[in-house]
Parts: sequence; C-alpha cells; structure tokens
Amino acid sequence: MTKQINFLMTTSLLLAASMTTACQGSGGSGDSRIVGAAIGTDGVHGTSTPTPDFIEGEAAGPNTITLALRYVSYLNSAGTPVIDEATSQKIVRRVNELYAPCDVRFFIEEYVPAIPGDLGLAYGMSSMSELDPIRSQFESQDRLVVINTGNWSAPESANAWTTMPGYSPSGAVLEAQVATNGEIVAHEIGHYLNLDHVSTATNLLSPIVYKTSTVLTARQCEIVRQSAVDSWSAMRR
Ligand SMILES: [Zn+2]
Repeated sequence: MTKQINFLMTTSLLLAASMTTACQGSGGSGDSRIVGAAIGTDGVHGTSTPTPDFIEGEAAGPNTITLALRYVSYLNSAGTPVIDEATSQKIVRRVNELYAPCDVRFFIEEYVPAIPGDLGLAYGMSSMSELDPIRSQFESQDRLVVINTGNWSAPESANAWTTMPGYSPSGAVLEAQVATNGEIVAHEIGHYLNLDHVSTATNLLSPIVYKTSTVLTARQCEIVRQSAVDSWSAMRR
C-alpha cells in the first residue's frame, strides 16, 4: 500500500517573518513499541547523551555540517515510549541517507523520554493551540528538537508540525503514527532548515510525502546549509 501524507498549511495566523508548515496524513507505520521505560515523577527523566554514532558513509568530510538533535519521546501510561532510543537512532540514520547529497548529517545528542501529564501536556494533541506549549517545554538553545507525541485527535491536525526559522518556540512535533517514517522526519527537518514545499512528487519536500519522495536538489541543499549557518549555528558540532 502506498503511504500517502496529505498536507495542510497555515497562512494567516502567523507573522510574516515566520511560518509553520504541517504535513497531514493518513495511514500509520503499523509499528508497535514494546520496550518499557522506568517511570519517574518529574516528567522528563533519564535523558541520555549517546556518543555520536555515524555509519559508514556518514563520516565527516571537510565540508560536512553536523547538527545535534534533542529527540523527545512521550511515554504512555504504561511507560512505553512512542519511539524508543534504538529505533530513533535508526530513523535518524534514514534521515542522514536522505541528507547525504547536502553533506549534512544529524545525530541524537540527547534522547528524552517524557511523561506529558507530569508536564501539563496531553499525550495526544487535540488542538493546535497545544503546539507551542509543547515546543516551549522541550525547546533547546543548542539542539534541534524533534518531539514524538501520542496520536492526535484534532480534526484539523496534521501528522506533524514544524516551525521554520524565525518562529519561536521552535521544534518539530510529530504524532506517533509517523514517528517511524524516516522520510517524514526528514521532511520536517527540512522545514526546520528553511525548506518550503515543492510540487515535485519525488522531492523530499513534496507536500504529499511518498516513500519515493527522497530527492533534495542542489538548490535545496544550499538553503539547508545556509540555514544551518545562519539560524542554527549553536546546534552545529
Ligand atoms: Zn511539510
């Protein structure tokens, strides 16, 4: 079955200098997570800071741009993360494959299991007004933030919402059903790095993200690299 992600974009609610894009879709990954996690009382607990672990082909060259991620995963009431750390690493490796043409790579510098209820947040989002409180909770000054929440029930909600440079608080917020879709995570990171949608279905920034939406053009790579320098220099390693 072709996985298809539809698109919804806000226009008038935000300042001209900032833009939020969204990627709405149907169809889930079908994955289920069975790895448990210890439950704390402070919402965010047990964060880990793994050593960067790049696979062959991800080794840094003289022009490689490396960006650090804070990868947040909500825990459900049973203590199961939306996406566990090992699976998160796998997804980021897929993201790195997609960004290889740009000589840009990412690594999870901090994996954060979080109990949303302890932070005044809902496990699943039911209103877009929850996006900024979520981002505010996890925003980082020196890491790009990817937040994986439970599934959403808001009728207008997309699968993922990501701020573009200039909007604060910043961060990519994804619902559980797309957490293991590397193309969608890469697409959202593209918005984070100042990429707009393009009409080519095979492009990673196609508003409808297929499994075959994988291309980043030379011009898009220029934008991504410039954004890393201009907007996210503190996230570089
Ligand atoms: Zn998008």
